Amino acid sequence: MTIPLVDLKAQYLSIQSEIDEAIQRVIDRTSFIMGEEVTQFEEAFAQYCGARYAVGVSSGTGALFLALLAHGIGPGDEVITTPFTFFATGEAISQVGARPVFVDIDPVTYNIDPNLIEAAITPYTKAIMPVHLYGQPADMDAINHIAEKHGLIVIEDAAQAHGSRYNGRRAGSLGHSACFSFYPSKNLGCYGDGGAVVTNDPKIAERVAKLRDHGRVTKYKHDELGYGHRLDAIQAAILRAKLPHLDDWNAARRDRARRYDQLLADLPVTTPRHLPQTEPVYHCYTILLDDAFDRDAVVQHLKDRGIGVGIHYPIPLHLQPAYRFLELEPGSFPVSEHMARHVLSLPLYAELTDEQQDEVVDTLREALL
Ligand SMILES: *Cc1c(COP(=O)(O)O)cnc(C)c1O
Repeated sequence: MTIPLVDLKAQYLSIQSEIDEAIQRVIDRTSFIMGEEVTQFEEAFAQYCGARYAVGVSSGTGALFLALLAHGIGPGDEVITTPFTFFATGEAISQVGARPVFVDIDPVTYNIDPNLIEAAITPYTKAIMPVHLYGQPADMDAINHIAEKHGLIVIEDAAQAHGSRYNGRRAGSLGHSACFSFYPSKNLGCYGDGGAVVTNDPKIAERVAKLRDHGRVTKYKHDELGYGHRLDAIQAAILRAKLPHLDDWNAARRDRARRYDQLLADLPVTTPRHLPQTEPVYHCYTILLDDAFDRDAVVQHLKDRGIGVGIHYPIPLHLQPAYRFLELEPGSFPVSEHMARHVLSLPLYAELTDEQQDEVVDTLREALL
């Protein structure tokens, strides 16, 4: 039995006619750029997140980049974020000319540790960019409290957290702006690249909408220099078809995660934990191996038996070759570095069966015992 880390085909087969109809609709109209599909998806997604505006863009990375620009963040500014994330979080901060300032993570949630944020604030700090890692919202009350006290902007990197909640409110409505990715394997994914910026601020929504489309205000009039960062109509149509299923898929992921929690209870691993005020959506089901185990050997054991595994993430951002110029030594962020060495993500998707899960756990048990 081979069990992939994610099974996009199983999801497609479960809604094949809806997806095929959506794609055909766009082809029949030959309206491939912007237009009704994009605006209808934007309205539906904003409403889903409990926010006023969603602006569709070309990727999650594009969403982060354009949100930072729209908030006026650029050269000379600092943005506080976590080093334990996908590279794009730091990359977008650097691409607008600002400096990412890393703050270590909480050892229970693996999200940015709010207790360490204030010590990282300088006169140049403009924003905090928490990442809702693995689909669990960061501790947003604590983060927003610090941001208010110091006059900082909060931009959520919600690329892994579509539909997750913090105190009942959805990711996307927890800061000044939020950035989503619709990369195919995300909880809400399209069939290519896509993303969105979600906000309650009409000025930010307008600015992102302008910047994503060459600074355009009318067909041939350009207010400012922008970018080619639009969301394709075909991707928007696919996302419109998938959005009504998202809550069911997330509920199934939570159910599968709870079942893993039980099956793994007697193994020498730490299963995911979450704050009581969060409802996570398990973009990843990531466990922490006890220090004694050689992770590479465990990964190889699983892969050799056809089980997909992921490492999210093996190299924290401050130790990436691309960030050598920040001159941050190993040991700068010990919790992130520890997690980077010992975490392991197991297959998780809504269609994962009991039999598949049992096979994953039995194989992991062989590797550990
Ligand atoms: C996926 C992801 C991104 C980037 O999204 P793309 O659509 O691939 O550009 C950014 N941040 C995090 C935390 C992600 O998981």
